Amino acid sequence: MNILVLNCGSSSVKFQLISTDRHHIEHNTDKRLASGIIERIGGQALVHFSVPAPDGSPRSYREALPLRDHSAAIEKIVQWIISPEANIPGITTYADIDAVGHRVAHGGETLTSSVIITESVLKHIEDCIELAPLHNPHNLKGIYAINKVFGGAIKQVAAFDTAFHHTLPDYAYLYALPYQFYRRHKIRRYGFHGVSHRYVQYRYRILVDIKRDDVHVISIHLGNGCSVCAIKGGRSIDTSMGMTPLEGLVMGTRSGDIDPAILEHLCHKEGYSLTELGSVLNKQSGLLGISGLTNDMRELIAEAVENDDRRAKLAIDIFTYRVKKYIGAYLAAMNGASAIIFTGGIGENAAYVREKILQGLDWFGVHLDHDRNTTLVGGKEGKISDDNSRLDAWVIPTNEELLIARDTFRCVMGQAIPR
Ligand code: ADP
Repeated sequence: MNILVLNCGSSSVKFQLISTDRHHIEHNTDKRLASGIIERIGGQALVHFSVPAPDGSPRSYREALPLRDHSAAIEKIVQWIISPEANIPGITTYADIDAVGHRVAHGGETLTSSVIITESVLKHIEDCIELAPLHNPHNLKGIYAINKVFGGAIKQVAAFDTAFHHTLPDYAYLYALPYQFYRRHKIRRYGFHGVSHRYVQYRYRILVDIKRDDVHVISIHLGNGCSVCAIKGGRSIDTSMGMTPLEGLVMGTRSGDIDPAILEHLCHKEGYSLTELGSVLNKQSGLLGISGLTNDMRELIAEAVENDDRRAKLAIDIFTYRVKKYIGAYLAAMNGASAIIFTGGIGENAAYVREKILQGLDWFGVHLDHDRNTTLVGGKEGKISDDNSRLDAWVIPTNEELLIARDTFRCVMGQAIPR
């Protein structure tokens, strides 16, 4: 089955075309047929598509052209996929794309697993806009656009970033606010990055050959957004992002945890409106806010290591210290774990950051193997702790698109979705 996986942001659409079926899932032989991104939708959009080549470098296609909305962008993607220029074996008409899987940020309390998108599912995703105003509206645009491009003649599946965390116990997901706010407004921790944490959980148990119920790990997703997930018995029992993706770790431009009293104080001192405060916390804080330089970890490491920049070093120190605190908290919440697993752009590539996070965790039995740590970058997978560690550390590159493609196949075939 050829599945188009879409991840729609405010002005961008990322896609992968993945061939999967029951046999591929069993043997982990699913194939990525094409991938790409369109950025700056709404203006002069930048298109970058590529087709992997079994031997040699992938074939690339780049273009800049005006694309007014998500519909135009998705139409461009589909037309390119089926074109002779893309030359993807077996894909020449719309009918060669069997289904579409969407990454959807928020499924609320009701949508706790990947599902076929029906009228009532659409309504639920729309209802969740008030919980995820920065994400769900754009995910919905992608769903509507596919309906338009395919004239409603294709099955669509939604995979939710919140779904993996539906197993959180109430004492972990409730905030200590008046209880009626939960009853009236569903104010609670939902957690995000669930597709990534679920993939890490799945991949780890394959790599170490254990059953899902025996997976006791801390999954640390460090990308532009960052979150930690405590996974006990293969289930998420706590996670650092909250009702929105703003809570928890320090991120590229998000503050993560702060004292809520700071907000009122800043309103008085700086004269901010609530909307402006939201923008400060989401877009001007985190690594960018502390360093005053950039939200890009690569550049920060260069500034810290090569130029000895004080604020770049401070930003990395605050970032890594926050991760370390969550590791400690989750080891207590889980009563121990067998591995700490890094993923996401920073987690997969920044050996320097991983080392800083794991420094001083020898009391917990983590012993970093420096050679393994520096070697396992650029999409490589494996253990970065030494063989005497009581608590292992791993790098597992995430693959959210693969999981969404597989979930889409399962939903279309009426099969159960594994945790
Ligand atoms: P997103 O959350 O948007 O999917 P990514 O998972 O791609 O983002 O992560 C982006 C982050 O990963 C950026 O901070 C980037 O600097 C960092 N990153 C990517 N490659 C490296 C690298 N080689 N060394 C350090 N950081 C890196």
